[in-house]
Amino acid sequence: MKILVAGGAGFIGSHLVKYYLKNNHTVYAIDNFVTGKKDNLRKIADDKNFRLVEADLVDYDFGALPSFDLIYDLASPASPATFARLSLEIIRVNSLGLMNLLDFFVKSQSKTLVFSSTSEVYGDPAVSPQPETYFGNVHTTGVRSAYDEGKRFAEAIISAYTRKFNIDARIARIFNTFGPFMDKDDGRFISNFINQALTKKPLTVYGNGEQTRSCCYVTDMVAGLVSLGETKNLKGEIINLGTEDERKIIDVARLVKEMTGSESKVVFEPIGEDDPKRRKPDLNKAKRLLSWEPKTSLEDGLKLTIDYFKTL
Ligand code: UDP
Repeated sequence: MKILVAGGAGFIGSHLVKYYLKNNHTVYAIDNFVTGKKDNLRKIADDKNFRLVEADLVDYDFGALPSFDLIYDLASPASPATFARLSLEIIRVNSLGLMNLLDFFVKSQSKTLVFSSTSEVYGDPAVSPQPETYFGNVHTTGVRSAYDEGKRFAEAIISAYTRKFNIDARIARIFNTFGPFMDKDDGRFISNFINQALTKKPLTVYGNGEQTRSCCYVTDMVAGLVSLGETKNLKGEIINLGTEDERKIIDVARLVKEMTGSESKVVFEPIGEDDPKRRKPDLNKAKRLLSWEPKTSLEDGLKLTIDYFKTL
């Protein structure tokens, strides 16, 4: 197959690129490196089946690119620590950038598109676990709103194109994901805790640490995305991808401390506005339609991630 990954130099994007190259497909990646890293693609830079396009989806002229069997759009900053600094980039790429990509998709008669939406469309959820049918509880003007509403608007754009042009587009609502190649400095809790533990700094828990997240190991996430892209007859489907193993942030801090053998203290710092109190996907739809579920435990995934961080 011929595959395009927008955001191919990002954390999940680069894993997806490598997966498809390993399986002998031709892969194009587009990235403007606002948060993606060239280094994530270093090992495959010379692969004859790989092309890297350095461009911004917002104003890229797709004219020279061929038709694709599968297009993944993972192009957006995604860490809460970037939401203020990159708010306008986030809004642009999830609206103008997405529409530019969809116009190319229609014109080139490419076959299937998978868009990376997010659990953030559920905001600070009033129901748990969150099924795809839940409309969410988002603060429309809060500090997370550029990302949350950006992704919600992106879902509306995709739905409009699907109705108007009858395209085969699918939406993945991606929950917290971790693993090797996650950006060491992007401020997420797992990367922060591992960094802090390995450099003998205090582990910073925001709030009382009772808030929850469910953290999916990256190879499981990639398997879910591949299944969403390749399974037949999923046009228009919106599917949660993540893990049902919900943990308190404070418990993950203690686990990282224990697994690294670190003597760092755990300290409590103020929590950001609108930080969701709990997050856990309802995966029934994913299990039913994709015959997929995550296999790697948090502990096994953390071990691999800690080993990776030690090499940096
Ligand atoms: N968090 C924390 N310490 C950190 C970074 C984050 O306690 O150093 C908390 C944050 O307040 C949130 C959770 O960990 O409740 C997950 O934050 P993250 O930025 O990883 O992503 P989110 O799931 O909020 O998108």
